[in-house]
This record gives sequence, structure tokens and C-alpha cells, in this order.
Amino acid sequence: MMNLNEDQNPLHSLDEWDDDVKLRYPAPEPDGGHEPSIEPPQDDSFRNYGNDVRDGVREFYRLNHQGQTVDFVRAQRRKYLPLRTRRMGIWEAMDFLNELVDDSDPDIALPQIAHAVQTAEAIRQDGQPDWLIVAGLIHDMGKVLCLFGEPQWAVTGDTFPVGCRHSEKIVYHEFFQFNPDWNNSQYRSEDGMYEPGCGLDNVLMSWGHDEYLYQVVRDYLPIEAQYMIRYHSFYPGHRERAYQHLLNAQDRDMFRWVRKFNRYDLYTKSEQQPDLDAVLPFYHQLVAQFFPDSIWW
Ligand code: FE
Ligand code: FE
Repeated sequence: MMNLNEDQNPLHSLDEWDDDVKLRYPAPEPDGGHEPSIEPPQDDSFRNYGNDVRDGVREFYRLNHQGQTVDFVRAQRRKYLPLRTRRMGIWEAMDFLNELVDDSDPDIALPQIAHAVQTAEAIRQDGQPDWLIVAGLIHDMGKVLCLFGEPQWAVTGDTFPVGCRHSEKIVYHEFFQFNPDWNNSQYRSEDGMYEPGCGLDNVLMSWGHDEYLYQVVRDYLPIEAQYMIRYHSFYPGHRERAYQHLLNAQDRDMFRWVRKFNRYDLYTKSEQQPDLDAVLPFYHQLVAQFFPDSIWW
């Protein structure tokens, strides 16, 4: 992949982060209701980790936890919002994203589109509504941020609120001691710069592909899909139940969808390549149902 600066990009591919999350959460969370038809992963259904990958993931988190400050998030928002970087359609963006092809996954020629289609197909096979299928297809397209020159730690990784105490449920929590906000008295308390129960829409999340894509597609998708896209990497919230004190009633309600979506995102990755020729006509029609030919990124 395009690694402009290896010091800032310790992962061989962005997918190493996703794979590491699957090591942390090897099985889907029971959702108490309708169970999507997903088999928990069998033994080593995804890549085995060499030490250099583990070291890369650790270094990735060090950079992420050190760099994601209130000031950094505000600067990224000023840089990208309102959207004005590029105008392109969903498929144009998908092609663009495929430039992220990396050397760590020789079996999969188009890893980004493969994950997009695998996620969407599992949702489709469960008979879920169209908006959920289309959200599955596009959910990681915010990773185009990498192609705009952003370092990996500002594109992927677990997301978390900035401007308040970092939950100990965040993986590699110890690296937050290197974050300049750690010693800022305004941000040190549990609520930090927020009012309890203010709702996540009023909370600044660490910057990455989730928040960015939410901003790109929010006008075209229902609120449930917006939540799924915006918070799919917020593992401290949706898996660990941290930051409950910031949520409002709508957040708690919508997180049912975020959790449902997580099962499809995390547990449908496989080495088996989807048959793109067979399924793409369906997805072309589906995307056209929700999106105009061209949108702002
Ligand atoms: Fe993602
Ligand atoms: Fe994903």
C-alpha cells in the first residue's frame, strides 16, 4: 500500500488492525434476538500473526493514542468539513480505494472490495433491509483518507471520545500517558468537557474512517445506518459498554444496530473471494437507489 512514511504507518496493511480486533473478540456478542447466520471463526480462519505484525499493531496504537487529541480532532474536522476534498461517485471511490492494495495479503487481489462485498452479502443473505445491505457495502470507504495522505493512526483503529478521561477499557490504555490531553485538567474528569447524558452527537470522537464516512453519506441513509457507520470502530462503547455516562436514549437505542452490524463486519472476513461478476449488478442497482452519481468527499 501507499506508505508515505513508514514511521507513521507501522501496519503492513490497514486490515491488520481489523484482524487484531478479531483476536480480541473471537466470537460475536449474543444479541438476544434474531441471530444472524454467522458461524464463529474456526481456529485460524484468518492470518496467523508473526511477531513483526504484533509489534506493528502495538506501535500503531502508540501513535494513535498519542496523536488523537482534542486539538488534532478539531484540526481534522476543519481540514475535511464541510466536505470539499473531492467529488466522486460511490463506485469511483471504490476503484480509488482499491489503490490501497497491499503486499501482506497475496491471496486477495482486491481486499477492500472483498471485505465490502463479504459484509454486504452476509447481510443480504440474512434478509435484512436494503439500507443495511448498502451500509455494509460502503462502511469502510472512509479509508480513502489514507489516499489523501493521512497516516494509518488517523484512519483506522478503535475510536473513543476525546476531551474526557480515557476509559481503561480502551486497548493499550497505557499509551494515553503520551497524549498531551492526559494532563489537561479540563479533560481529566470522567465527563471532561461534556455534560453527562449529552449524547454522542455532541461528543468529539477520535478522527478516522468512521466519522469521515458518516459525514460523506449522512444525507442519503437512515439514522440506523448512520450510527452503524459512525460508530462501528467504537469498540470501547459498543463491545465494552464504556462511556455510558455520555450516551442519551437515542444512542442506547441505536447501538443495538451498531452491535448487529459488528457481527457482519468482524466475522464475515474470509480468504474465499466473493464472485464479484455474479453480485456486482445487484450492488450497482442498490447503490443507485440510495446515492446520486456523484457526491462530495
Ligand atoms: Fe471499519
Ligand atoms: Fe469493516
